[in-house]
Amino acid sequence: MKKFTKTLAMVTAVVIAAMALTACGAQKKDETAGKSTDAAQTSTETKTIKFGTNAEFPPFEFVSNKGGVIGEFDGIDMAMAKQIAEDNGMKAEINNMEFDSLLVALQNGQLDAVIAGMTVTDERKEAVDFSEPYYTATQVMIVKNDSPITKASDMADKKIAVIQGYTGETVVKDMGYKYEAFKKGTDAIMELMNGKTDVVVIDKATAEKYIKDNDGIKAVEDSEAFEDEKYAVAVAKGNTELLNKINKSIEKMIADGTVNELAAKYAVAED
Ligand code: GLN
Repeated sequence: MKKFTKTLAMVTAVVIAAMALTACGAQKKDETAGKSTDAAQTSTETKTIKFGTNAEFPPFEFVSNKGGVIGEFDGIDMAMAKQIAEDNGMKAEINNMEFDSLLVALQNGQLDAVIAGMTVTDERKEAVDFSEPYYTATQVMIVKNDSPITKASDMADKKIAVIQGYTGETVVKDMGYKYEAFKKGTDAIMELMNGKTDVVVIDKATAEKYIKDNDGIKAVEDSEAFEDEKYAVAVAKGNTELLNKINKSIEKMIADGTVNELAAKYAVAED
């Protein structure tokens, strides 16, 4: 389903978004048992971290038909969520919902944390608290192999597709270009493959996945136009107890090479 140019979801519109969540009804949950590494933890209750994600963002999160690290959910973020829970003697639960609904669900207490390849932005920082960043990303332009687009300004007179609520939408909007916003990355790619759009602006690692899966398209980078973005885990404002746990685990996974290993593994993994 297409949606035309929209601003970012108003994260303060709790009531409206809560209704949308109920209406969407496609939420899926899955849990994994965390091995308790905390000797002081009693076996009577293993607490659960309710993570939210949007499993439409390979290699960070996707639904695997071969089974994932947490139920059917697989990807870099899913492996990290599992490890964060295990490091704290807890279980990880994955709630799959629309990207636009994630921060509202955090704010209204439906989720404990969001792990969704989510870029830290000033606007989002007003609504939630972010962990230490764990990954550096950038936007790229996916085009047909014979496209004349070689830099961001070449998009000026082209048909541009973005994904609703992603930072790619904000970046294109800030450039002042008209665009069409799609619900899913795969929908935007289909438009490109069908020749109905000229360019899809999306995060680089995800773009590389789509390019691997579809013939005749390539990524065009423009480091002057697209700044580096940092992915981090989000928690509700003031939830420092959980944030400290997440930060300790992330710092460990960066220091011991886990994050790099996961990024390398999932870059080549089949969905
Ligand atoms: N990094 C982009 C953002 O934060 C896209 C994230 C995603 O789709 N999961 O908006």
